[in-house]
Amino acid sequence: MIDVNTKGEVWVFAEQHNGELQDTPLELMSKARSLADTLGVKLAAVLLGFEVGELTTKLIHYGADKVYLVEDPLLGTYQTNSYAKVIVDLIHKHKPQIVLYGATIAGRDLAPRIASAAKAGLTADCTDLQIGDHKTVKDEKLHKNLLFQIRPAFGGNIIATIINLERWPQMATVREGVMPMPEPDVTRQGKIVTEKIKIAQEDLPLEILDEHQRPKKVDLKAARIIVAGGAGVGSKDNFRLIWDLANCLGAAPAASRAAIDLGFIDRDHQVGQTGTTVRPSLYIAVGISGAIQHQAGMSQSQKIIAINNDSDAPIFQVAHYKIIGDLNEVVPKMIRAIKEKSIKEENKQANQIKAVIARLAPASAGASSHPHKRV
Ligand SMILES: Cc1cc2nc3c(=O)[nH]c(=O)nc-3n(C[C@H](O)[C@H](O)[C@H](O)COP(=O)(O)OP(=O)(O)OC[C@H]3O[C@@H](n4cnc5c(N)ncnc54)[C@H](O)[C@@H]3O)c2cc1C
Repeated sequence: MIDVNTKGEVWVFAEQHNGELQDTPLELMSKARSLADTLGVKLAAVLLGFEVGELTTKLIHYGADKVYLVEDPLLGTYQTNSYAKVIVDLIHKHKPQIVLYGATIAGRDLAPRIASAAKAGLTADCTDLQIGDHKTVKDEKLHKNLLFQIRPAFGGNIIATIINLERWPQMATVREGVMPMPEPDVTRQGKIVTEKIKIAQEDLPLEILDEHQRPKKVDLKAARIIVAGGAGVGSKDNFRLIWDLANCLGAAPAASRAAIDLGFIDRDHQVGQTGTTVRPSLYIAVGISGAIQHQAGMSQSQKIIAINNDSDAPIFQVAHYKIIGDLNEVVPKMIRAIKEKSIKEENKQANQIKAVIARLAPASAGASSHPHKRV
């Protein structure tokens, strides 16, 4: 635990693997930037690894004023103990007021270890972060400019705001895709602070022999259009409707957790609090009730179409277009309409080409039958 330091910086753990920065810390930079601006302090990224110095520029372009860079061959591969030791030492030296981590596999492993070693508080899986004041009931003391760590609680039935009055730094993890990725500003300038922290062999209890990564079957975050099916689709066979609609729109197929638990589609396709957070241009929710945990992952979509036979389904509260009806009738009609439209467009294009050829025909006919005659 460090003393409450209201002048302390805001930090983001700049997670990298094999010299590549992960998306989540970059997404976090925009929120961290606005927190730092509200507090009037610097935003720093904390970058650990070996021969990763060139990533510092990218972190500055994404909003960091400063990058703390710790390079060591022993930090070449992520290990809990060595990374935690370095960050705890940096926390004790520089006394930041806020430290943020992506809720990635490494972030979820590292942040609690640091919280325990530094005796600081930590809120996992935040969906929003704000700066605000809080008056304690007991002594009516006003605590200014605290980090409000906002996340679903009690199975997602309430949204809780968690504060940490004095066990500083205030720390939180934020799930992938929750914060929008900022646009890099290549004109930004920043400072690189190189730190040397001694790492001993006992800080590396594991010997990493080999690394295997299972590639994700679908990249929902990158999809422009998503067609998601829920338990209302009824069966894995009937889920073919979702694949068909997705195919004719060039969309990614996705699902609610209930549909995944029922085995309709693979878990990589799950949208929601414990799945992927998406914000596509168009999200079509088919046979999905719209539980708060599902909405947590899709309500930021630019346009939402919901198809449900229950007019009171909560999904309609966030939908821009509501189709109340049986998905088994609505979806095939949509597929037919889209296919007919593309056939009509193809015909229209073919007719336009024919018309152009018809206009050129006398000339080309003349040219071929009278090769020396110019029209
Ligand atoms: C800690 C926690 C985390 C969770 N994380 C997630 C998460 O990440 N993502 C997620 O999705 N859920 C998550 N859940 C589960 C969530 O609470 C819901 O149970 C789940 O989203 C429900 O899925 P669903 O809407 O497909 O199913 P249901 O709630 O069963 O809804 C099915 C819908 O289909 C409609 N329907 C039925 N037949 C038809 C038909 N023929 N035509 C049209 N409509 C029809 C029904 O009216 C109903 O609205 C989580 C829960 C907890 C406790």
